[in-house]
Amino acid sequence: MTEKENKGFMELNTEIQFLHGVGPKMAERLDKLGIKIVRDLIYYFPRDYADYTKIVKIGDLGIMNYESGIMGETKTIKAKIINIANRRTSRRRFVVTEAVVADDTGSIKVVWFNQPYLEKMLKSGSEVILNGKISYDNFSGQIQMESPTRTNFPRIVPIYPETVGISSGYISKLVASIKPQVANIGEYIPEEIIGKNNLIGIQQAILALHQPDNSASVEKARERMAFDELFLFSLQKQLIKQEVLIHKAPKMEIDEQFLKDFVESLPFKLTDAQRKASWRIIKDLESNQPMNRLLNGDVGSGKTVVAAFAAAVVIKNGKRVVLMAPTEILANQHYQTLTKILEPHGISVGLLTSANKSDHNLPDIIVGTHALIQEKVELDNIGLVIIDEQHRFGVNQRNKLLEVRNGLRPHFLSMTATPIPRTMSLVVFANLNVSVIDEMPADRKKIITRTVEPAGRDEAYEFIRKEVGSGHQVFVICPLIAEGDQADSLQLIANSFFEEEKKAVIKETKRLQKDVFPDLKIAMLHGKLKSKEKEVIMADFKAKKFDILVSTSVVEVGVDIPGATVMMIENAESFGLAQLHQFRGRVGRNDMQSYCLLFSSSNSENAQKRLSYMESISSGFELAEKDLELRGPGQMYGYVQSGFWDFRFADIGDRIMIEKATEAAKDVVAQIDKYPELLEKVGEKAKHLE
Ligand code: ADP
Ligand code: MG
Repeated sequence: MTEKENKGFMELNTEIQFLHGVGPKMAERLDKLGIKIVRDLIYYFPRDYADYTKIVKIGDLGIMNYESGIMGETKTIKAKIINIANRRTSRRRFVVTEAVVADDTGSIKVVWFNQPYLEKMLKSGSEVILNGKISYDNFSGQIQMESPTRTNFPRIVPIYPETVGISSGYISKLVASIKPQVANIGEYIPEEIIGKNNLIGIQQAILALHQPDNSASVEKARERMAFDELFLFSLQKQLIKQEVLIHKAPKMEIDEQFLKDFVESLPFKLTDAQRKASWRIIKDLESNQPMNRLLNGDVGSGKTVVAAFAAAVVIKNGKRVVLMAPTEILANQHYQTLTKILEPHGISVGLLTSANKSDHNLPDIIVGTHALIQEKVELDNIGLVIIDEQHRFGVNQRNKLLEVRNGLRPHFLSMTATPIPRTMSLVVFANLNVSVIDEMPADRKKIITRTVEPAGRDEAYEFIRKEVGSGHQVFVICPLIAEGDQADSLQLIANSFFEEEKKAVIKETKRLQKDVFPDLKIAMLHGKLKSKEKEVIMADFKAKKFDILVSTSVVEVGVDIPGATVMMIENAESFGLAQLHQFRGRVGRNDMQSYCLLFSSSNSENAQKRLSYMESISSGFELAEKDLELRGPGQMYGYVQSGFWDFRFADIGDRIMIEKATEAAKDVVAQIDKYPELLEKVGEKAKHLE
């Protein structure tokens, strides 16, 4: 560090309480906003802006409202105060200040609440710029402006996130006082990348966000910050990918005759997508670089057999395999499927969950839950680690299985049934090679999906009775376990605020058994049951010991009940598209025609749209794109982990920006040593990631 850099560094790290106008008390409050040092303040950006630069004529407001409706929108006018007076509301609890203001095109009423001093402050005849919400005046039916903020000259005023005792205006002043310190923020993005992507410099961006000249400069600054977020995130992921490749992995010999025998031993013909994915995996295994691959395929697309293929190849090479699944039910199911597929080839399969700790004496492939990590399974000589629904595990759990032993790192195959839109996957999975299985087995029929209005309920039950009569089974999904329970997700809580009581599993099971299907066998499944109990119920359902299973979302992932043909979902509007699609994937897993019935009484436009997408679209990847459109990237799936939510400026639906940022990260990753500032910045970010 030069002396100048050192001085800059010190200044940026100055504690906030030493700034002029900040004492210990204010410092404590600022601390609550995450502002401890000058650097934090520099990076504390406005959440929004009051734009006093786009002035509209009062006469145009009426026309704009007539043409497109501007109720609730914020507008800016420049006007003269014609008259202004306070009055009390009838119950005398409020003071309302009412003014009439005018420009050369017309006049409008303006109201403020509980700011009586305005009457004295804003004199008749004076000119002000007002920025406020347009609403209707209930008395006159005319449009008015509500509680506007004001200024004397046209400018853009930043609005900072506030806390008790810290106003946006106060932060604005503080920021102004440390403006010279922005010069100490060093540029970390290489010049070529800045030039190629037409970005502004970091200092310029920071200044524009805090004190913009016009809205275009805010846009330019946001673009720079969004690029930074995506670029640094992508770079970090690519560094991880590069880091993995430093290690060697056991190289597999491929026995073509065995591959042929294996494929022939399967009870079905592999789809093209399965073949392609298997082939890619085999190519990866043939290399002495660790495989780092994600298998992304819709529910029911047949990922397990591809994983089994990979496992068989590794085991034939004298190595062992670990497969970790997020729940006992899934671990169990994988155990059963793999046993069926692999044992005929002389491969032993073991199971280890917290409910099943029996020692299997080092089988060739051991399947389990996170108990695999806790129970200190012998992990030597592991050639391949497979993790199902990896996002359900912590990074540390995953890394534990992937530790380098005897100088070798196992190959790694991750699987997910959450279809991720392509653009998003570029960012989220930048550290993995992705294989997509975008094709269903040929014998699969399209699942017929229908929304059922309250009036159609009886008819739907008749239909279910008929299906059961033909020997088929039925899932009924309810959002809650017992009435009055907290819903499982924030979205459910928000929705339940408006809607009629949710169907609760326990009550609904009783009702169905007593009033609707007294002659049918009904069981119930929810997250409060012990895992052993859940297992027994699933096994019994699979064995057709009962006809209808009423359940919460615990059946969500991967459970395979070949006899089930009807998925009926209560309060379908409470679930997101991704989850509805997951539920639907529980049926139609064989050649029988299956159905998905979405019960809903919601008339929210968004909910109806979601349900109609469910009716018309069967591809999970396509639905994911719609979900991204409807809900925005912030709420996409539980998939995208912690660090991802820190994106403040970036839009992970912005394909062009994502491609640019990913490309830029690729350009520098191989020669990262040339960019120490960048590496440092990634390190800083990484603390918040993963
Ligand atoms: P997922 O991708 O959801 O994990 P699975 O691997 O559980 O899907 O497969 C779902 C069902 O489809 C299983 O019963 C499996 O035996 C069957 N299956 C897999 N591949 C094929 C295929 N190519 N043809 C017919 N059935 C298949
Ligand atoms: Mg699966």
